[in-house]
This record gives sequence, C-alpha cells and structure tokens, in this order.
Amino acid sequence: MNLLATDHVLETPALDVAGIRAQFPILERQVHGRPLIYFDNAATSQTPLCVIDTFRDYYGRFNANIHRGLHTLADEATAAYEGSRETVRAFLNAADRREIIFTRGTTEAINLVANSWGRANLEPGDEVLVSLLEHHSNIVPWQLLADQLGIVVKVIPVDERGVLDLDAYCTLFTERTRLVAVNHVSNAFGTINPVREMSTIAHDHDARILIDGAQATPHQAVDVRGIDADFYAFSGHKVYGPTGAGVLYGKAELLEAMPPWQGGGEMIKSVSFDVPTTFADIPHKFEAGTPAIAEVIALGVALDWVSGVGLARIGVWEAELLARATAGVSRIDGLRLLGTAPDKAGVLSFVVDGAHSQDIALLIDQLGVAIRTGNHCAQPLLARFGVDATCRASFAVYNTLEEVDSFVDALERVVGMVR
Ligand code: PLP
Repeated sequence: MNLLATDHVLETPALDVAGIRAQFPILERQVHGRPLIYFDNAATSQTPLCVIDTFRDYYGRFNANIHRGLHTLADEATAAYEGSRETVRAFLNAADRREIIFTRGTTEAINLVANSWGRANLEPGDEVLVSLLEHHSNIVPWQLLADQLGIVVKVIPVDERGVLDLDAYCTLFTERTRLVAVNHVSNAFGTINPVREMSTIAHDHDARILIDGAQATPHQAVDVRGIDADFYAFSGHKVYGPTGAGVLYGKAELLEAMPPWQGGGEMIKSVSFDVPTTFADIPHKFEAGTPAIAEVIALGVALDWVSGVGLARIGVWEAELLARATAGVSRIDGLRLLGTAPDKAGVLSFVVDGAHSQDIALLIDQLGVAIRTGNHCAQPLLARFGVDATCRASFAVYNTLEEVDSFVDALERVVGMVR
C-alpha cells in the first residue's frame, strides 16, 4: 500500500459509497430473489451511468467514422476519440499522447508487443522472463514466439504466499535476456508486484519491461514514467469502462521503431503497387481499421469517473473490504486462502477441503452472491499450489462492508451444505 496515498486520503472526505452505488443501476438487481452482491470485479467491473449514457449520446448524436471525414459528425467523433487518448495519457502519466495505442484490451495489447516488437527484436536463443503469477494472456503470446522464433521463456518463481522471488528474478538474467513480462497485480491472488524495482533491475540488464496492468489500474494510481515501464497494458472493462476497448502504452522511441502488426486503413501514409507502401506515424500506425469508437470514448469517461472518485481513496476502501473479508472467511472450517502476500489488492482466493470450488460458486449464486471459480487463466500458478481451481471474491469501490458480511454468512452456509 502506498503510504503517501493513504496519508492523502486521511485528509480528504470519506468515500460516499451509497452515492457511488446509486450511479450503478445493475446493483439494484435481484438475483434468485435476493439483492445482487457482485464480487466478480476482477473479471469485469460494473459501469456507472455516465459510461452507459456515453453510448446513447454517441449513437444518438455523433456516430461517424473518425479521422477521415470532413463533416461535422466525423469531426465531433474524432475529437471525442482523440480526447480519450489524452485522458488515458493523463491517467497513466505518460509523456505524450502518441504513446497511447487503443486496443481491444490487455490481451490484444500484449499480442501487439509480441508480434511487432518481439518479431523485430528477438532472435533464436533470446530470453523472455515471465512470472508464475501471469494470466495466460502474458504467457501464451511468448510461448507462441518460442515455437515460431526459437526464443526461450523463463519463469520467475513465487513463494508460499504468492510473492515473487526477487532473488530468483535477479539470477534468471543472462546476456540473452531481452524482455521481462510481468503483471502489476495478480488476478488470481491479488499480489501487488514491485514493478518499479523490477523495472530498474531489468534495465540494469539492458532488458525491456512490459507490465500487464489489467488488475492494477482499477485499484491504484499508475505512473508509467515513475515505474519507467517500456510497455504497459490494461483493459477498459476492469476499470469501470466497457468491453472492447483497452490500452497499450509504449515509450515513443520504441513504438516508432516497431513495425506495424496489422495492415489496413488508417495505419498508412500512402499505398502503392509501384513504390513501397508507407505507414502512418504513431499511434495510428498501430490502429488499423475502424476502431471501437464508442467504447474508446466511453473508456475515457470511465477513467475520468475513476479519477474523480480518487484512486487513493478507492485503494483504502478496498483494503478495508479485503481485511473484513479475510478475517470473516478465515473463521470458516476447512477453508484455505491462497495468496497471502502482505501487499495485496482486493482479491480473495480460497479453496475448501472436501468441497469443489464449482459447487460453492453455484450454490452461493443461489444466495445472490456472484464470485468466480476456476483456474482464473492462471493454470501454472494454481498447479504450483496443487489445485486446479479456486473460488475468488474480488472487490470494487461500490462494494460495502455489509455485503462482505452477507457473503461470509452465505459462504458459511454453503460450506456447511457441501462438506
Ligand atoms: N491480465 C490480467 C492480470 C487479467 O486479469 C486479465 C483478465 O482477467 C487479462 C490480462 C486479460 O484481459 P482481457 O481479457 O481484457 O484482454
């Protein structure tokens, strides 16, 4: 937890959780006749009215294709889309809005780096370090390159708490290490990784660092320049925005030197059969075809909303929810927490002896509580802990302590039924 941020929060008014909840119509839903308790935020967070309204506004008032049109609607759509790029730049504290590439999400952003930077810069025998905490989307693109280019993927191990072993990290570097690809926050366990330190170590070894920020951006302020990230990726739908829009941040000098990875409209300067086709400058070089215009605009609205609430305050509130939930579930007989890092985001992963995680999730849904079960796209991590699935409750700013208490009661009931 960032102590400076916490101090700042203590001086600012407390979070108005009721006022925040009123902005999320979905939270009024009943599920199986009970009020919805939505604890699947690490998979997808819910969207506030201002984000939902953006779609009505866009399609109702200025739906048009961007960049190419000379009419008013096209101008307005382009201005809103490019305005969103500026919002993302400020959100990440990037130096230049040209460093912000819109993608479909984190997965596409990482695949862009693998297929553009990776193919241009990696040779057989070169090494990419990933951590055992990674989501499959930060493992498989590198494994594909290992198959196709002959690079080597090496894995940073974790200890019993799900904390990355930094000594082992340092020993994995060789003169062939070109890239570290690591998440900022683990989706399966909630571990917050020391990405600033890891970035310094990577750069000391002349390697680049790509950070998967899918689970960090909803919970803490991110400063890509402070971290000195070479690449940073996140998804809109986990940070109160829509699906279909995400971001790749990349340092301008890297992006400028990278070849395009998809060809088509919007990403060229000129196309010819007689002389070589030339490509647009960044960021457009990496945004071939018509993008998800409404979604990108809505992502900007979501980030403004998050910044308005205040990420420092969000982090403090979620830490309180996590502490209450951890204490509550720890009293349940046979329940084992996985991921007990001292530095953790609002994610609670657990298994119960003698009970299938799937049964727990299905039964607790009958009580109105939405949690996730499965491997969380982190099979290697779960295998390290000898399980193939966990239950995961994950928190967002609109969750309440009362919801946490109801969840613990419901879980106790369910565990009593299935054991
Ligand atoms: N990385 C992490 C840490 C995630 O939690 C997720 C989604 O759960 C992803 C990457 C993939 O995100 P998306 O499916 O939005 O591309």
